[in-house]
Amino acid sequence: MSNRHLAPLSLTGSYSPQFRPDAARMATCADSRSMRPKILCVFGTRPEIIKLAPIIRELKQTHHDIQVMTVMSGQHTDLVEPFLELFQVKPDFNLQIMQRQQTPNEVCARVLAGLEPIMSKEAPEAVIVQGDTTTALAGALTGFHHKTAVAHVEAGLRSGDPHNPFPEEMNRRLISRLATYHFAATSGNRDSLLREGVPADDIFVTGNPVVDSLHYILENTKPSSRVRELLKQTAGQKLLVLTTHRRESFGRAMRQNLRDIREFVERHEDVSLIFAVHPNPNVVEAARTELNGGSRILLIEPLGYSDFIQLLKQSWVVLSDSGGIQEEAPSLGKPVFVLRTNTERPEAIDAGVAFLAGNKPGHLLAMLNRAYDEPGWLEKIKQIPNPFGDGKTASRIAEIIQQKICRRAERITR
Ligand code: UDP
Repeated sequence: MSNRHLAPLSLTGSYSPQFRPDAARMATCADSRSMRPKILCVFGTRPEIIKLAPIIRELKQTHHDIQVMTVMSGQHTDLVEPFLELFQVKPDFNLQIMQRQQTPNEVCARVLAGLEPIMSKEAPEAVIVQGDTTTALAGALTGFHHKTAVAHVEAGLRSGDPHNPFPEEMNRRLISRLATYHFAATSGNRDSLLREGVPADDIFVTGNPVVDSLHYILENTKPSSRVRELLKQTAGQKLLVLTTHRRESFGRAMRQNLRDIREFVERHEDVSLIFAVHPNPNVVEAARTELNGGSRILLIEPLGYSDFIQLLKQSWVVLSDSGGIQEEAPSLGKPVFVLRTNTERPEAIDAGVAFLAGNKPGHLLAMLNRAYDEPGWLEKIKQIPNPFGDGKTASRIAEIIQQKICRRAERITR
């Protein structure tokens, strides 16, 4: 099989983020003097927009007594913009903090500085942050400094190791210390928060809005010609879909797993691999060294969300160190081999739909071989309900925000 017809992945150049000269406000909020309570949603990366978009949509469509404002930090640039278009989110502010090779500390400092004038001018009733990014941490700290309620979506995930994933695990823990309202996806997440002393009344088990986004995509979009071409090239094959980009996977761990995957594909003529290569130079380099030129191995640039979901839908097994993919795969009835040594999403492992691959030489290969030799296995996985949500999370969260935050604002202004 040839990969000549694919949109090629550049394996030679380094990642060059878009630079923009001014960190300027993108739009003026038309009714900034309105008495409607304001909610500021802060996001900066691909998973944050995927998971906040349904909540923003729900608040705007059904809670007209709230003014929703959105701030994009720019922690990711090229990766995020197609998602804004897809979910029709137009940021009110763009902090444009992206700089080449910046450290978490620098990201944090720039987001804090960028949020300061917005908070002072707009004085929102609440700041909503999602997940575990440095943007989310800076958003939560900003809310705290301004004595504003902080609502944390996807609260209570814990890997158990403060250094892994880095810095995400510590970001999550710190956000839980700063947040006022905690939207936990599962009862396990709630238990983790309770163990850390978060008051029960401030925790709401809502599911994860990623499932809402997935449903939205499945109902409202169709595969593009690009993804149709990819699927044509791998038709009739057992398709492995791979993503890997986490810091702790870089280097030996990532290379070892890529070698195992290559060996498995080479051994089985009915297996193909599509690897959506993250633009991080560590990933690009590992992909080039370990996988380039392999037969039935397609290296592509990251796909838009809709196309990526279409690819997952057609996969045989998903291989990933991503958090969101562990949450999406169960809704599509797909097994995920998690390319990590731990996970803060044990629900998928306990349900029997995700499996930790670790990074010991040969371990992933053995897992793949076992899956290949066990027919019937996939049928069982399709029956497992998604432990992370039912697609109705956004309306639950919007309702709670309305009740907790906006009614409080009414009381104060009366
Ligand atoms: N994703 C995508 N295109 C790709 C690879 C992933 O749209 O080429 C989506 C994927 O479906 C998931 C999200 O990006 O919802 C995961 O983002 P990422 O792995 O960056 O973050 P994490 O979930 O690990 O925080």
